[in-house]
Amino acid sequence: MNAVPDLAVVGLGPAGRALAHRAAVRGLDVVAVDPHPDRPWQATYAAWVDEIPGWLGDCDVWRARLPRPRVHGIRERILDRTYGVLDNVALHRRLDLTGVRVVTGFSDALTPWSVTLRDGTRVDAHRVIDARGLQPDPTLAEQTAFGVVVPAVVAAPALGGGDGWFMDWRPDNGTGPDDPPSFLYAVPLGEDTVLLEETCLVGSPGLPLGELRRRLDARLAARGVELPANVEVERVRFPVQAPRESTSVPAFGARAGLVHPGTGYSVAASLAAVDTVVESLARGHDPSKALWPWHARTVRRLRDIGLSALLDLEPSATAGFFDAFFALPIARQRAYLSGRTDVLGTTAAMWSLFRAAEPGTRRTLARAGARRA
Ligand SMILES: Cc1cc2nc3c(=O)[nH]c(=O)nc-3n(C[C@H](O)[C@H](O)[C@H](O)COP(=O)(O)OP(=O)(O)OC[C@H]3O[C@@H](n4cnc5c(N)ncnc54)[C@H](O)[C@@H]3O)c2cc1C
Repeated sequence: MNAVPDLAVVGLGPAGRALAHRAAVRGLDVVAVDPHPDRPWQATYAAWVDEIPGWLGDCDVWRARLPRPRVHGIRERILDRTYGVLDNVALHRRLDLTGVRVVTGFSDALTPWSVTLRDGTRVDAHRVIDARGLQPDPTLAEQTAFGVVVPAVVAAPALGGGDGWFMDWRPDNGTGPDDPPSFLYAVPLGEDTVLLEETCLVGSPGLPLGELRRRLDARLAARGVELPANVEVERVRFPVQAPRESTSVPAFGARAGLVHPGTGYSVAASLAAVDTVVESLARGHDPSKALWPWHARTVRRLRDIGLSALLDLEPSATAGFFDAFFALPIARQRAYLSGRTDVLGTTAAMWSLFRAAEPGTRRTLARAGARRA
Protein backbone atom coordinates (compact mmCIF):
# COMPACT_ATOMS: atom_id res chain seq x y z
CA MET A 1 0.00 0.00 0.00
CA ASN A 2 1.31 3.51 -0.82
CA ALA A 3 2.17 5.84 2.04
CA VAL A 4 -0.34 8.35 0.65
CA PRO A 5 -3.46 6.66 -0.72
CA ASP A 6 -4.89 7.57 -4.11
CA LEU A 7 -8.28 8.48 -2.72
CA ALA A 8 -9.98 9.44 0.55
CA VAL A 9 -13.75 9.09 0.56
CA VAL A 10 -15.43 11.04 3.35
CA GLY A 11 -18.84 9.61 4.24
CA LEU A 12 -19.98 6.01 3.80
CA GLY A 13 -23.62 6.43 2.94
CA PRO A 14 -24.76 4.51 -0.15
CA ALA A 15 -22.88 6.95 -2.42
CA GLY A 16 -19.58 7.04 -0.54
CA ARG A 17 -19.55 3.32 0.10
CA ALA A 18 -20.23 2.56 -3.56
CA LEU A 19 -17.41 4.94 -4.53
CA ALA A 20 -14.90 3.45 -2.08
CA HIS A 21 -15.89 -0.08 -3.14
CA ARG A 22 -15.68 0.52 -6.89
CA ALA A 23 -12.46 2.52 -6.60
CA ALA A 24 -10.83 -0.34 -4.69
CA VAL A 25 -12.11 -2.85 -7.27
CA ARG A 26 -10.55 -0.63 -9.96
CA GLY A 27 -7.20 -0.97 -8.16
CA LEU A 28 -7.02 2.41 -6.42
CA ASP A 29 -5.58 2.65 -2.95
CA VAL A 30 -8.52 3.95 -0.92
CA VAL A 31 -9.10 5.24 2.59
CA ALA A 32 -12.65 5.93 3.79
CA VAL A 33 -13.83 7.97 6.77
CA ASP A 34 -17.17 7.73 8.54
CA PRO A 35 -18.28 7.90 12.17
CA HIS A 36 -20.27 4.63 11.80
CA PRO A 37 -18.69 2.72 8.92
CA ASP A 38 -20.26 -0.66 9.75
CA ARG A 39 -23.79 0.47 10.49
CA PRO A 40 -26.23 -0.48 7.72
CA TRP A 41 -28.32 2.46 6.61
CA GLN A 42 -31.57 3.00 8.49
CA ALA A 43 -33.68 4.77 5.83
CA THR A 44 -36.00 2.83 3.54
CA TYR A 45 -34.35 3.30 0.15
CA ALA A 46 -36.23 2.52 -3.02
CA ALA A 47 -35.59 2.89 -6.74
CA TRP A 48 -36.82 1.82 -10.13
CA VAL A 49 -35.31 -1.61 -10.74
CA ASP A 50 -34.05 -0.63 -14.21
CA GLU A 51 -31.93 2.16 -12.69
CA ILE A 52 -29.54 -0.18 -10.91
CA PRO A 53 -26.22 -0.55 -12.77
CA GLY A 54 -25.06 -3.85 -14.23
CA TRP A 55 -21.91 -4.05 -12.09
CA LEU A 56 -24.11 -5.07 -9.14
CA GLY A 57 -24.51 -8.30 -11.10
CA ASP A 58 -26.91 -10.97 -9.98
CA CYS A 59 -26.68 -9.97 -6.34
CA ASP A 60 -30.22 -9.58 -5.06
CA VAL A 61 -30.23 -6.14 -3.50
CA TRP A 62 -34.02 -5.96 -3.28
CA ARG A 63 -36.09 -6.37 -0.18
CA ALA A 64 -39.29 -6.23 -2.18
CA ARG A 65 -40.29 -5.57 -5.76
CA LEU A 66 -43.50 -4.10 -7.12
CA PRO A 67 -43.73 -5.27 -10.75
CA ARG A 68 -46.64 -2.94 -11.54
CA PRO A 69 -46.79 -0.15 -8.98
CA ARG A 70 -49.96 1.91 -8.75
CA VAL A 71 -50.53 5.64 -8.57
CA HIS A 72 -53.70 7.57 -7.85
CA GLY A 73 -53.94 11.16 -9.05
CA ILE A 74 -57.48 11.77 -10.21
CA ARG A 75 -57.85 8.12 -11.16
CA GLU A 76 -55.96 4.94 -10.45
CA ARG A 77 -53.22 3.94 -12.88
CA ILE A 78 -50.89 0.97 -13.02
CA LEU A 79 -47.33 1.71 -14.11
CA ASP A 80 -45.60 -0.79 -16.35
CA ARG A 81 -42.23 -0.35 -14.64
CA THR A 82 -40.89 -2.38 -11.74
CA TYR A 83 -40.21 -0.47 -8.56
CA GLY A 84 -38.28 -1.92 -5.65
CA VAL A 85 -37.29 -1.38 -2.04
CA LEU A 86 -33.59 -1.92 -1.52
CA ASP A 87 -32.29 -4.42 0.98
CA ASN A 88 -29.89 -2.16 2.87
CA VAL A 89 -28.07 -5.03 4.55
CA ALA A 90 -27.50 -6.86 1.25
CA LEU A 91 -26.42 -3.67 -0.53
CA HIS A 92 -24.09 -2.72 2.31
CA ARG A 93 -22.53 -6.19 2.18
CA ARG A 94 -22.30 -6.14 -1.62
CA LEU A 95 -20.39 -2.85 -1.47
CA ASP A 96 -17.69 -4.55 0.56
CA LEU A 97 -14.67 -2.55 1.58
CA THR A 98 -12.05 -5.29 1.40
CA GLY A 99 -8.78 -3.54 0.68
CA VAL A 100 -10.11 -0.14 1.79
CA ARG A 101 -8.57 1.37 4.92
CA VAL A 102 -11.54 2.43 6.99
CA VAL A 103 -11.10 5.20 9.56
CA THR A 104 -13.83 5.66 12.15
CA GLY A 105 -14.37 9.34 12.90
CA PHE A 106 -15.97 12.67 12.02
CA SER A 107 -14.14 14.86 9.58
CA ASP A 108 -13.84 18.41 10.74
CA ALA A 109 -12.09 19.98 7.77
CA LEU A 110 -11.47 18.88 4.20
CA THR A 111 -9.02 20.06 1.59
CA PRO A 112 -8.58 18.46 -1.84
CA TRP A 113 -5.67 16.46 -0.32
CA SER A 114 -6.42 15.98 3.37
CA VAL A 115 -9.10 15.17 5.90
CA THR A 116 -8.75 16.38 9.45
CA LEU A 117 -10.78 14.52 12.04
CA ARG A 118 -12.32 15.99 15.18
CA ASP A 119 -9.65 14.33 17.31
CA GLY A 120 -6.99 16.10 15.25
CA THR A 121 -5.91 13.06 13.22
CA ARG A 122 -5.02 13.97 9.66
CA VAL A 123 -5.60 11.64 6.74
CA ASP A 124 -3.76 12.57 3.53
CA ALA A 125 -4.65 11.37 0.03
CA HIS A 126 -3.93 12.36 -3.55
CA ARG A 127 -7.66 13.09 -3.96
CA VAL A 128 -10.42 13.67 -1.43
CA ILE A 129 -14.08 13.19 -2.31
CA ASP A 130 -16.77 14.60 -0.06
CA ALA A 131 -19.69 12.15 0.22
CA ARG A 132 -21.05 13.43 3.54
CA GLY A 133 -24.63 13.73 2.30
CA LEU A 134 -26.84 16.70 3.11
CA GLN A 135 -28.26 18.01 6.35
CA PRO A 136 -31.70 19.66 6.57
CA ASP A 137 -31.26 23.33 5.64
CA PRO A 138 -34.01 25.97 5.92
CA THR A 139 -32.77 27.70 2.76
CA LEU A 140 -33.32 24.61 0.61
CA ALA A 141 -36.49 22.93 -0.64
CA GLU A 142 -36.96 19.65 1.18
CA GLN A 143 -38.93 16.43 1.31
CA THR A 144 -40.60 15.42 4.54
CA ALA A 145 -42.56 12.30 5.42
CA PHE A 146 -43.86 10.37 8.38
CA GLY A 147 -44.33 6.64 8.09
CA VAL A 148 -45.27 3.55 10.06
CA VAL A 149 -44.21 -0.05 9.49
CA VAL A 150 -47.13 -2.42 10.01
CA PRO A 151 -47.94 -6.08 9.35
CA ALA A 152 -49.22 -6.58 5.79
CA VAL A 153 -52.57 -7.78 7.08
CA VAL A 154 -53.02 -4.51 8.99
CA ALA A 155 -52.04 -2.39 5.97
CA ALA A 156 -54.32 -4.22 3.53
CA PRO A 157 -57.33 -1.86 3.72
CA ALA A 158 -55.08 1.11 2.82
CA LEU A 159 -53.84 -0.64 -0.30
CA GLY A 160 -57.16 -1.17 -2.03
CA GLY A 161 -56.39 -4.70 -3.20
CA GLY A 162 -52.90 -3.98 -4.59
CA ASP A 163 -49.48 -4.43 -3.07
CA GLY A 164 -48.58 -0.77 -2.71
CA TRP A 165 -48.90 2.84 -3.83
CA PHE A 166 -46.06 4.75 -5.44
CA MET A 167 -48.22 7.85 -4.93
CA ASP A 168 -51.79 8.09 -3.75
CA TRP A 169 -52.98 11.70 -3.81
CA ARG A 170 -56.57 11.06 -2.71
CA PRO A 171 -57.62 13.68 -0.19
CA ASP A 172 -58.91 11.28 2.47
CA ASN A 173 -56.22 12.49 4.87
CA GLY A 174 -58.31 15.19 6.52
CA THR A 175 -57.15 18.00 4.23
CA GLY A 176 -59.19 20.51 2.26
CA PRO A 177 -58.63 21.66 -1.34
CA ASP A 178 -56.51 24.65 -0.29
CA ASP A 179 -54.20 22.79 2.09
CA PRO A 180 -50.68 22.01 0.89
CA PRO A 181 -51.05 18.46 -0.38
CA SER A 182 -49.33 15.26 0.68
CA PHE A 183 -49.68 11.73 -0.63
CA LEU A 184 -49.61 8.19 0.69
CA TYR A 185 -46.53 6.17 -0.21
CA ALA A 186 -47.07 2.51 0.59
CA VAL A 187 -44.53 -0.20 -0.16
CA PRO A 188 -44.01 -3.76 1.05
CA LEU A 189 -40.80 -4.32 2.99
CA GLY A 190 -40.83 -8.05 2.32
CA GLU A 191 -43.53 -10.67 2.67
CA ASP A 192 -44.96 -9.58 5.97
CA THR A 193 -44.61 -5.86 6.54
CA VAL A 194 -45.61 -2.68 4.75
CA LEU A 195 -44.39 0.92 5.09
CA LEU A 196 -47.26 3.42 5.03
CA GLU A 197 -45.87 6.92 4.70
CA GLU A 198 -47.57 10.31 4.38
CA THR A 199 -45.23 12.31 2.19
CA CYS A 200 -44.74 15.95 1.33
CA LEU A 201 -42.93 15.52 -2.00
CA VAL A 202 -41.29 18.95 -1.90
CA GLY A 203 -41.87 22.04 0.17
CA SER A 204 -40.00 25.13 1.14
CA PRO A 205 -40.18 24.34 3.98
CA GLY A 206 -41.67 20.84 3.83
CA LEU A 207 -44.78 20.06 5.84
CA PRO A 208 -43.94 19.47 9.52
CA LEU A 209 -43.72 15.83 10.58
CA GLY A 210 -46.44 16.34 13.22
CA GLU A 211 -48.86 17.48 10.51
CA LEU A 212 -47.93 14.51 8.31
CA ARG A 213 -48.48 12.18 11.25
CA ARG A 214 -51.98 13.63 11.82
CA ARG A 215 -52.76 13.23 8.11
CA LEU A 216 -51.53 9.65 8.08
CA ASP A 217 -53.65 8.82 11.11
CA ALA A 218 -56.70 10.43 9.46
CA ARG A 219 -56.13 8.62 6.18
CA LEU A 220 -55.60 5.24 7.76
CA ALA A 221 -58.63 5.67 10.01
CA ALA A 222 -60.72 6.63 6.95
CA ARG A 223 -59.63 3.39 5.25
CA GLY A 224 -60.29 1.21 8.25
CA VAL A 225 -56.67 0.55 9.22
CA GLU A 226 -56.25 0.00 12.94
CA LEU A 227 -52.69 0.73 13.95
CA PRO A 228 -51.23 -1.57 16.58
CA ALA A 229 -49.52 0.05 19.58
CA ASN A 230 -45.77 0.70 19.42
CA VAL A 231 -45.36 0.57 15.66
CA GLU A 232 -41.95 1.25 14.17
CA VAL A 233 -41.89 4.73 12.60
CA GLU A 234 -39.83 6.36 9.87
CA ARG A 235 -39.20 10.13 9.92
CA VAL A 236 -37.98 11.68 6.70
CA ARG A 237 -36.54 15.14 6.20
CA PHE A 238 -33.83 15.94 3.68
CA PRO A 239 -33.05 18.67 1.13
CA VAL A 240 -33.87 17.97 -2.51
CA GLN A 241 -31.41 20.64 -3.63
CA ALA A 242 -27.68 20.83 -2.99
CA PRO A 243 -26.40 24.03 -1.38
CA ARG A 244 -24.80 26.45 -3.82
CA GLU A 245 -21.54 26.48 -1.93
CA SER A 246 -18.36 26.77 -3.90
CA THR A 247 -15.79 24.37 -2.58
CA SER A 248 -12.52 23.09 -3.91
CA VAL A 249 -13.25 19.54 -2.72
CA PRO A 250 -15.09 17.43 -5.30
CA ALA A 251 -18.28 15.83 -4.02
CA PHE A 252 -20.29 12.72 -4.76
CA GLY A 253 -23.80 11.50 -3.93
CA ALA A 254 -26.42 13.79 -2.44
CA ARG A 255 -23.67 16.25 -1.56
CA ALA A 256 -22.80 16.58 -5.25
CA GLY A 257 -26.33 17.42 -6.36
CA LEU A 258 -27.28 13.91 -7.46
CA VAL A 259 -30.65 14.20 -5.68
CA HIS A 260 -33.48 14.46 -8.20
CA PRO A 261 -35.16 17.74 -7.24
CA GLY A 262 -38.59 16.47 -8.16
CA THR A 263 -38.50 13.15 -6.30
CA GLY A 264 -35.73 13.39 -3.70
CA TYR A 265 -34.14 10.19 -5.01
CA SER A 266 -30.37 9.88 -5.32
CA VAL A 267 -29.34 6.36 -4.34
CA ALA A 268 -29.75 4.76 -7.77
CA ALA A 269 -28.25 7.84 -9.47
CA SER A 270 -25.17 7.56 -7.27
CA LEU A 271 -24.79 3.84 -7.95
CA ALA A 272 -25.16 4.50 -11.68
CA ALA A 273 -22.64 7.37 -11.71
CA VAL A 274 -19.95 5.80 -9.57
CA ASP A 275 -17.91 4.19 -12.33
CA THR A 276 -17.73 7.45 -14.27
CA VAL A 277 -16.15 9.10 -11.25
CA VAL A 278 -13.84 6.17 -10.53
CA GLU A 279 -12.62 6.13 -14.12
CA SER A 280 -11.88 9.84 -14.08
CA LEU A 281 -9.97 9.44 -10.81
CA ALA A 282 -7.99 6.50 -12.19
CA ARG A 283 -7.01 8.62 -15.21
CA GLY A 284 -6.10 11.63 -13.12
CA HIS A 285 -8.98 13.71 -14.48
CA ASP A 286 -11.34 16.07 -12.64
CA PRO A 287 -14.16 13.92 -11.17
CA SER A 288 -16.57 16.88 -10.97
CA LYS A 289 -16.21 17.49 -14.70
CA ALA A 290 -16.80 13.81 -15.36
CA LEU A 291 -19.94 13.89 -13.20
CA TRP A 292 -21.31 17.06 -14.76
CA PRO A 293 -20.84 17.13 -18.54
CA TRP A 294 -23.01 19.73 -20.31
CA HIS A 295 -25.92 17.35 -20.88
CA ALA A 296 -26.09 16.44 -17.17
CA ARG A 297 -25.99 20.13 -16.24
CA THR A 298 -28.76 20.84 -18.75
CA VAL A 299 -30.95 18.03 -17.42
CA ARG A 300 -30.41 19.31 -13.91
CA ARG A 301 -31.48 22.83 -14.96
CA LEU A 302 -34.61 21.41 -16.58
CA ARG A 303 -35.43 19.45 -13.43
CA ASP A 304 -34.86 22.56 -11.34
CA ILE A 305 -37.58 24.22 -13.43
CA GLY A 306 -39.75 21.23 -12.57
CA LEU A 307 -39.02 21.78 -8.88
CA SER A 308 -40.00 25.47 -9.13
CA ALA A 309 -43.24 24.44 -10.80
CA LEU A 310 -43.99 21.88 -8.08
CA LEU A 311 -43.37 24.45 -5.36
CA ASP A 312 -45.73 26.93 -7.09
CA LEU A 313 -48.49 24.49 -8.02
CA GLU A 314 -51.94 25.33 -6.61
CA PRO A 315 -52.79 22.67 -4.00
CA SER A 316 -56.03 21.87 -5.81
CA ALA A 317 -54.12 21.27 -9.07
CA THR A 318 -51.60 18.78 -7.67
CA ALA A 319 -53.52 15.53 -8.13
CA GLY A 320 -54.38 16.53 -11.71
CA PHE A 321 -50.75 17.37 -12.41
CA PHE A 322 -49.56 13.94 -11.30
CA ASP A 323 -52.44 12.31 -13.10
CA ALA A 324 -51.21 13.93 -16.31
CA PHE A 325 -47.61 12.96 -15.58
CA PHE A 326 -48.42 9.29 -15.01
CA ALA A 327 -50.57 9.24 -18.13
CA LEU A 328 -47.41 9.90 -20.18
CA PRO A 329 -45.82 6.90 -21.89
CA ILE A 330 -43.44 5.08 -19.54
CA ALA A 331 -40.43 6.06 -21.66
CA ARG A 332 -41.27 9.74 -21.11
CA GLN A 333 -41.79 9.19 -17.40
CA ARG A 334 -38.49 7.37 -17.20
CA ALA A 335 -36.65 10.14 -19.06
CA TYR A 336 -37.87 12.66 -16.49
CA LEU A 337 -37.48 10.54 -13.38
CA SER A 338 -34.30 8.58 -14.10
CA GLY A 339 -30.89 8.99 -15.63
CA ARG A 340 -29.05 12.29 -15.71
CA THR A 341 -28.06 12.99 -19.28
CA ASP A 342 -31.07 12.60 -21.58
CA VAL A 343 -31.72 16.22 -22.56
CA LEU A 344 -34.10 15.37 -25.42
CA GLY A 345 -36.08 12.85 -23.36
CA THR A 346 -36.38 15.22 -20.40
CA THR A 347 -37.46 18.09 -22.64
CA ALA A 348 -39.98 15.88 -24.43
CA ALA A 349 -41.45 14.71 -21.12
CA MET A 350 -41.80 18.29 -19.85
CA TRP A 351 -43.33 19.47 -23.12
CA SER A 352 -45.80 16.58 -23.20
CA LEU A 353 -46.79 17.33 -19.63
CA PHE A 354 -47.21 21.02 -20.41
CA ARG A 355 -49.52 20.21 -23.31
CA ALA A 356 -51.56 17.76 -21.26
CA ALA A 357 -51.92 20.03 -18.21
CA GLU A 358 -54.95 22.12 -17.26
CA PRO A 359 -54.71 25.81 -18.32
CA GLY A 360 -54.03 27.02 -14.75
CA THR A 361 -51.25 24.46 -14.31
CA ARG A 362 -49.82 25.42 -17.68
CA ARG A 363 -49.50 28.99 -16.51
CA THR A 364 -47.64 27.78 -13.39
CA LEU A 365 -45.30 25.67 -15.52
CA ALA A 366 -44.68 28.54 -17.94
CA ARG A 367 -43.92 30.95 -15.08
CA ALA A 368 -41.45 28.45 -13.55
CA GLY A 369 -39.73 28.09 -16.92
CA ALA A 370 -39.55 31.86 -17.45
CA ARG A 371 -38.17 32.45 -13.97
CA ARG A 372 -35.36 29.94 -14.44
CA ALA A 373 -34.57 30.89 -18.05
C1 LIG B 1 -35.68 8.40 5.58
C2 LIG B 1 -35.18 8.68 4.18
C3 LIG B 1 -35.67 7.93 3.12
C4 LIG B 1 -35.16 8.15 1.85
N1 LIG B 1 -35.64 7.38 0.82
C5 LIG B 1 -35.02 7.45 -0.37
C6 LIG B 1 -35.37 6.53 -1.40
O1 LIG B 1 -36.30 5.74 -1.27
N2 LIG B 1 -34.69 6.56 -2.57
C7 LIG B 1 -33.66 7.45 -2.76
O2 LIG B 1 -33.01 7.41 -3.80
N3 LIG B 1 -33.37 8.36 -1.82
C8 LIG B 1 -34.00 8.38 -0.64
N4 LIG B 1 -33.67 9.29 0.33
C9 LIG B 1 -32.84 10.44 -0.03
C10 LIG B 1 -31.37 10.21 -0.33
O3 LIG B 1 -31.20 9.39 -1.39
C11 LIG B 1 -30.64 9.74 0.88
O4 LIG B 1 -30.53 10.88 1.69
C12 LIG B 1 -29.27 9.05 0.68
O5 LIG B 1 -28.93 8.56 1.94
C13 LIG B 1 -28.14 9.92 0.15
O6 LIG B 1 -26.96 9.11 0.07
P1 LIG B 1 -25.50 9.70 0.28
O7 LIG B 1 -24.60 8.53 0.41
O8 LIG B 1 -25.22 10.71 -0.73
O9 LIG B 1 -25.55 10.47 1.69
P2 LIG B 1 -25.91 9.92 3.14
O10 LIG B 1 -26.70 8.68 3.07
O11 LIG B 1 -26.46 11.07 3.89
O12 LIG B 1 -24.50 9.50 3.75
C14 LIG B 1 -23.60 10.44 4.26
C15 LIG B 1 -22.58 9.69 5.09
O13 LIG B 1 -21.61 10.65 5.52
C16 LIG B 1 -21.34 10.44 6.88
N5 LIG B 1 -20.92 11.72 7.43
C17 LIG B 1 -21.67 12.81 7.65
N6 LIG B 1 -20.92 13.79 8.16
C18 LIG B 1 -19.68 13.30 8.26
C19 LIG B 1 -18.45 13.85 8.71
N7 LIG B 1 -18.35 15.08 9.18
N8 LIG B 1 -17.34 13.07 8.64
C20 LIG B 1 -17.39 11.79 8.17
N9 LIG B 1 -18.54 11.23 7.74
C21 LIG B 1 -19.66 11.98 7.78
C22 LIG B 1 -22.63 9.94 7.49
O14 LIG B 1 -22.38 9.18 8.65
C23 LIG B 1 -23.17 9.06 6.36
O15 LIG B 1 -22.71 7.73 6.49
C24 LIG B 1 -34.16 9.14 1.61
C25 LIG B 1 -33.70 9.90 2.68
C26 LIG B 1 -34.19 9.68 3.95
C27 LIG B 1 -33.66 10.53 5.07
